[in-house]
This record gives sequence, C-alpha cells and structure tokens, in this order.
Amino acid sequence: TPRVRFAPSPTGYLHVGGARTALFNWLFARHFGGTFILRIEDTDFERSSEEMVEGILEGMRWIGLDWDEGPFYQSKRLDLYRETAQKLLASGHAYYCFCTKEELEQRRATAVAAGRPPMYDRRCRKIEPTVAAGRKAAGEAGAMRFAVPEGGATSFDDAVFGKVEFANAEIEDFVLLRSDGIPTYHLSVVTDDIDMRLTHIIRGADHISNTPKQVLQYQALGVTMPVFAHVPLILGPDKTRLSKRHGATSVIAYKEMGIVPEAFRNFLALLGWTPGAAGKDEEGKDRELFGSDELIRLFSLGGISKSNAVFDNDKLAWFNTEYIRAYDATKLLPLIEEEWAKAVFAPDRRGEQVLATIDLVKPRARNLKDFATAFRAYFSDDFAYDPAAVTKFLKDDAVRALLVELASRYEAAAEFTEASTEQILRTFAEEKSVKAGALINGARVALTGQAVAPSLFAVMVNLGKERVTKRLAAAEA
Ligand code: GLU
Repeated sequence: TPRVRFAPSPTGYLHVGGARTALFNWLFARHFGGTFILRIEDTDFERSSEEMVEGILEGMRWIGLDWDEGPFYQSKRLDLYRETAQKLLASGHAYYCFCTKEELEQRRATAVAAGRPPMYDRRCRKIEPTVAAGRKAAGEAGAMRFAVPEGGATSFDDAVFGKVEFANAEIEDFVLLRSDGIPTYHLSVVTDDIDMRLTHIIRGADHISNTPKQVLQYQALGVTMPVFAHVPLILGPDKTRLSKRHGATSVIAYKEMGIVPEAFRNFLALLGWTPGAAGKDEEGKDRELFGSDELIRLFSLGGISKSNAVFDNDKLAWFNTEYIRAYDATKLLPLIEEEWAKAVFAPDRRGEQVLATIDLVKPRARNLKDFATAFRAYFSDDFAYDPAAVTKFLKDDAVRALLVELASRYEAAAEFTEASTEQILRTFAEEKSVKAGALINGARVALTGQAVAPSLFAVMVNLGKERVTKRLAAAEA
C-alpha cells in the first residue's frame, strides 16, 4: 500500500499551495488505505521556527488532514543524512569541495558576465579522494558535492507530466553537505524518502527541476525510485503565480474569513484535479460539490491536470455558500459558535431555538461571519440597525408610529402563527389605509436591523411575541 508524505518547510505559514499538496497526498493515502506521513523540513535553522510548525499543523487540522506517522523533524535526523553522504562519497558519487564562498561567487559572476550558466566548474572533482580526505581530516573547511555524470541525461516518468528529461550537462554538481556539516534539501529529502519507504512523491511542480538531482541519488545508492507526481502551480486570476498581491495566501486567513473548512477543502481539491467521468451528473455536467468521502473515493493521480490552476475567490465564496446551505444546523453550530466567540457575541437564545434560527437564516448566509454580524438580531437583543436600511424603510415618522401601534395589536393577539401575524398586519394596514408593504418593510428593519430577511412572518414566529412586540414598539425612537 502506498506511503506518501507532506514535507513542509516551517519557514512560513501553511499557504494555499502547500495545503493543496497536503490534501492530494492525504486523499491518495486514504483512497488506497495507505499511510500519510508528516515531515517537517526544518534544516534551515535560521528561518524555521516551532511557531511556524504550529501554524502549519493548525492549518492541516482545520481542513481535516490527519497524519498517520510523524511529525518527523529533519533537524533531529542529521546523522542519517550524513550517513547517506558518506555512502555516496565511498562509492565515488560524491566529493569534497574546498572552494570558498568568495571564490565561488567570483567565478559565478565571471560566468554570468560571459553569458555562461553560473554552474560550479567542478574543479575540486579532480582532487584525489585520498588527498581530499586528508585535507578534510586536517580540518580544512569543505562541502560535499554530488558528482553528476558528465554526459547523458537523467529522466523520470512523472505520473502527471509524463517523461521528464534533463541533460546532465545542465545539472550542477550540487552540494549535499555544507562545510558546516548541515545537509542540503537535496540530500535530506532523498535520505528521508528512502528511509520512510515512500512509494509516491506528490508535490508542487516547482520541484520538477529538483527531481533529477534526487533521481541521480537514487541511482547512485542503487535504490528503487518512488513514483513522482508533480502537481500544477496555482495562479491568481491574472495568471501570475498566486501571491499576496491576489489576497490571502495563508490557509488560516480563510478560517479567519468565515469559510467552512469542508468548503475550502472541496475548493482546494479542484485546483488542478478533476474527478473525470465519475464526477459528472446525470446530464453529463461536471459536478463540483464533493464531500470528504467522495473525494477520497474519486481521487486518482490520473485526474491531476498538467495545466496550472487558477485560484478564484468568487468560486470559493460560492462553495462556502453551498456548504452553509447544505449543512444541518447542528453541524453549523460549532462553526458559528467560533465566529460568535471571535466577535465576543453571546446569543441570548438557547438550545432548539438557536438551531431553528440557524435553519431560518442560513439560506441567506454567504459566510459564517454573517451569523455574528448581519444576523445578530435573530440570536440576541444586542444588535445594530443597518443605517441604510433604516434610512430606506424606517425614516418616515408615520410608519414608525404605525409600527408602535401594530406592536400593541400583536401584544393583544391570542395566537402567534405565521398566518395570524400576517392577518393582523394586513387588517391593520387596511384599517389605516396604508400599504401593507410599507409596514412589512418597516417591521423587517425594526425586527432584524436589516433590509433583507427571510419571510417576515416566519421571522416573527421565530422571534416570538415578546421580542416582536418590544422591537416594534422601539420603532418609536
Ligand atoms: N520542503 C519542501 C517545500 O516545502 C518540499 C520538499 C518536497 O516535497 O520534496 O517546498
């Protein structure tokens, strides 16, 4: 069964691209009943931090990605990487390089000025291994480089991009171990991918150019290669690589924005992947709403597209609305409670009433935040009136006076149903020779603080006689 991994570098938060990579690996593992491993690539000590690790884990938990093994920290596994380096050195696939940083920089600058690629010129490769070992043993600072074959090409069969080939002449003798003994990404990633017995490497297409350097190490170590599957990049609407210019790129920012986590996951899954024929409805149209189980069932590497995906905020908003509508009130409640907590808002309504109220208003919700902002009046007497709604429907003194009078009619009502509350309002309007619509619009704002709401009489029944009477009477002010 497959073993896959998500291997973030904790030098930043969990961004959209990383989350999508994690999701694809997770879906792949769950589809096959395989193992999903979490590995923290924290060998860049200066830029990595525990806080970033926490942020990444939080982002993964938010979209419901659980891991079976790990988190493993590369910083705790340095000896293992050094062992691989020694193996490569012993088999003649690696060598010590004593060129100093200044020398390298200078040669690079010269190469660039002459229009040549700024690749290491391999001069230390000519040093006799025993001589090099002696210099190293004597304490000379030296890095270890991989000896890339001088002719030929290095290729791999990518599950998404097909055969990818690089001429060896274009691959630099890359560093495996820096002179301070710290392994580079190229060494640690291969060591771990082998040690953790990974079968498939699913990661961003930005790693394609790193892959030949990893393939060369597998070959040098005589180890079977995993299957590589590079997933396309995520672009902003202007078709440039997704960045802060396009809006939030951190996954947690979407949590903060009031997005339903499953909606975000559904949206992410379709960034560069399609379920193909299995994802069509009876009319042959592409379906887009897939719950977690369905995504797991339908996911395959074959559905990953070669072309770049475009991150469309409107589309995400659409998914969010759909999920809010589709969720039961009981499923929405914990998500809404988080929004209430963030807004320091405490509903006065309780239990079943809260659930019934969520069901009443959710068809109008676009975002979880709505429940803590525009919908406050449904949950508490602590709400604000939308000034535009007041100006539009509640400015007229005559309307306000009528609402106050209407309040006493409701107060005296024996029955308080949708039919009876409507009857009372219409009878009252007729009696006063005013349009029922003007009273309905005014009452809506008086009761909910908003110009748009679910059916007014359903709202009245939901709020109950006492609140309705009180809020209509308050229209006086
Ligand atoms: N740590 C690398 C990154 O965050 C990923 C390495 C890999 O997937 O091979 O980009």
